[in-house]
Amino acid sequence: AEFADLEQGDRDQGGGGGAAGPLPVVAIVGRPNVGKSTLVNRIIGRREAVVEDVPGVTRDRVTYEASWRGRRFTLVDTGGWDPDATGMGLRIAEQAQVAAELADVIVFVVDATVGVTDADEAVGAVLRRTGKPVILAANKADNPQLELESSVLWSLGLGEPRPVSALHGRGSGDLLDTVLDLLPEAPPEQFGGDRGPRRIALVGKPNVGKSSLLNRLAGEERVLVDPMAGTTRDPVDELIELGGKTWRFIDTAGIRRRERELKGADFYATMRTKAALERAEVAVVLIDASQPLSEQDLRIMSMVADAGRAMVIAFNKWDLLDEERRYDLEREIKRRMTRTPWALRVNISAKTGRNVEKLVPAIERALESWSNRVPTAKLNQFLGELVAATPPPVRGGKQPKILFATQADVEPPRFILFTTGFLEETYRRFIERRIRETYGFDGSPIVISMRIRE
Ligand code: GDP
Ligand code: GDP
Repeated sequence: AEFADLEQGDRDQGGGGGAAGPLPVVAIVGRPNVGKSTLVNRIIGRREAVVEDVPGVTRDRVTYEASWRGRRFTLVDTGGWDPDATGMGLRIAEQAQVAAELADVIVFVVDATVGVTDADEAVGAVLRRTGKPVILAANKADNPQLELESSVLWSLGLGEPRPVSALHGRGSGDLLDTVLDLLPEAPPEQFGGDRGPRRIALVGKPNVGKSSLLNRLAGEERVLVDPMAGTTRDPVDELIELGGKTWRFIDTAGIRRRERELKGADFYATMRTKAALERAEVAVVLIDASQPLSEQDLRIMSMVADAGRAMVIAFNKWDLLDEERRYDLEREIKRRMTRTPWALRVNISAKTGRNVEKLVPAIERALESWSNRVPTAKLNQFLGELVAATPPPVRGGKQPKILFATQADVEPPRFILFTTGFLEETYRRFIERRIRETYGFDGSPIVISMRIRE
């Protein structure tokens, strides 16, 4: 498939709650008229798979939430992706490729009354290469005779053909049983468990109060210095108990050590920050709120976003702020902190202890956003409505269409939009903003990639 990859980090803010966990994805693939929509209807038990077009998307839905024997999954009807009927046949192999990328299990539908066509061969070849589990559905096997004849489909090299009649329901239960057998187990619990203490990088330019905050957090709590695996120099991390949990603070030795007098200290400080972010899941960026926001502060925030880490910004030395400074600070934040407006914010004083207890809830919330996943069906329904109400701007006389979207990853959340043309930056920002408004992600960067079919 010829998709061009484009990436864009998100810079927009939003609110709202989280989303439910991910469901496994089952994609239905096959050339036109083999009965994909009929099979989808059969599986979801409704008559709604074929619906009229809306501007911007091919059908208003290509994904459905389905369940069988109490197990839920997302069903994707690849037949719904292509806007134009002409040339559709040529694109099935391409769709099969896309389906393979996003699905956990693929159901390849072939018309048993027709046998193997060239298009079926082409799709079969793509699917054999993917390594994803493929179920070969021999559809329109309405009677025992056709069931027998479906054995010619062995020639596709995709294992045993499963005779089914989507129209009459014959064999569809067996087919779904096979799907369930191949579905992955529910993903492991994201939080706690055996992933060890969550990892925090405390970063910020010199003198903002990092070691003061560390001392306050460690306070009377038990502090363990943990030697980093694989290095002899620099036993670096500290395990600190906060809010009933143990947290790993990355490279506390670097924070506590006074090396700012040294030549080249800035360079090494930047290296240290980068290395700490590499190992961390969430960054607490400390800023001296009594001083004007500096380029260096902003650069550190950008480093966190670029590293794809969750972020909490702690405005420290709040005890030093008078009313005028507070007013100025808010204006500086509004005007200059435009790259990471989604970061969570806490105003603290490491010296007096003010609001320090609010750090942990903010960190936990940022980590939750960082692991948040929008189910594929929900995402596509949401985008379908969004695009119908506000279609992408026409470009070079053509209206780009969004065929399908999926959240491919978490930590940080990464979305892929499959499109027929380039989406302008402003429009991508618009989508990002609405995703944030609808699904949260406060405290976490999100990445949106476009896969453009040329
Ligand atoms: P799609 O283009 O792959 O989505 O195919 P459709 O679901 O639109 O079906 C194409 C045609 O095949 C329709 O006329 C269906 O009624 C018919 N069809 C689908 N499944 C079966 C089946 O199991 N048996 C028979 N006899 N016809 C079927
Ligand atoms: P680091 O270089 O980021 O580790 O910063 P330090 O923790 O060494 O703090 C630098 C200076 O700021 C020290 O003199 C601290 O006492 C002072 N400081 C740190 N936090 C606060 C605070 O919340 N309020 C005030 N007034 N001073 C602070």
